[in-house]
Amino acid sequence: MFPALLLAFQLPFSLPDLLEQWKSEIEARTFNRIEILRIPGDPVPAEDRDVLFSYFSRPDFAQSFARTQALTFRYERDGHNRSLILLNLPRLQSTQNSLPSLIAHELGHLWLASLGLNPPPYDAGPGACIAIHAGDIVQHILLRAESDRRSIPWRDSYIRDYSAAADTFRTQAPGGAGDNCFRAQRLSLMIDVRTGFEPHSFPAREDYLASLALQDPPAEAIAIELIEALSSRLSLDPADYRACLTLAFEAIARLLATPASP
Ligand SMILES: [Zn+2]
Repeated sequence: MFPALLLAFQLPFSLPDLLEQWKSEIEARTFNRIEILRIPGDPVPAEDRDVLFSYFSRPDFAQSFARTQALTFRYERDGHNRSLILLNLPRLQSTQNSLPSLIAHELGHLWLASLGLNPPPYDAGPGACIAIHAGDIVQHILLRAESDRRSIPWRDSYIRDYSAAADTFRTQAPGGAGDNCFRAQRLSLMIDVRTGFEPHSFPAREDYLASLALQDPPAEAIAIELIEALSSRLSLDPADYRACLTLAFEAIARLLATPASP
């Protein structure tokens, strides 16, 4: 993947004003520029090449990236903090999501980090994927509330994406629960759909949730329980945030300890 990342070429794009403003505020708070890279396509800044090359050479990282549409990558070197938003173009083209909505989402993750609310540490190995999804469960609720506060639209893009996924379920056999990483990812997705959208707020919502629950029946009750627990605790206060991360890790552990099919 890395050579293509260096060789391919994309036309530059400009960010909508609301996103440019949010990005500038985060950069000002952290004294740290945010780079947005479409992969493959955008030239990788020289100072990031070694680090990105080493990460993309690791199977666990390459696999996580292949499964996601975008991710935020932060690292420190020689006293410099670097923040990169990596957009997975092939994956993005196969979905209904728009580039600005994905960038807004990743800016939300960086905004939380700029407030000291960091995602769980990324350690290579089987726990890495669980840590990503536990962090996402909590961070997504917070970053969507902030997007609403800033009048940054996000719902239409997600409705298109979820509706397309619900269509795919209608034409395909439901499939199994998948490995631990997929089970954790599905739990996070169930919570995204339920906390992001009121019941019946878009036509495919109920069907989509039912199809997800069919793939991994124990996940539904665990998702509902976790949402209930988070709703009374989640805030931008660091102690609340950490307590909510613990709740998310515990819920995923409970899910993975329960067989998906009896
Ligand atoms: Zn996210």
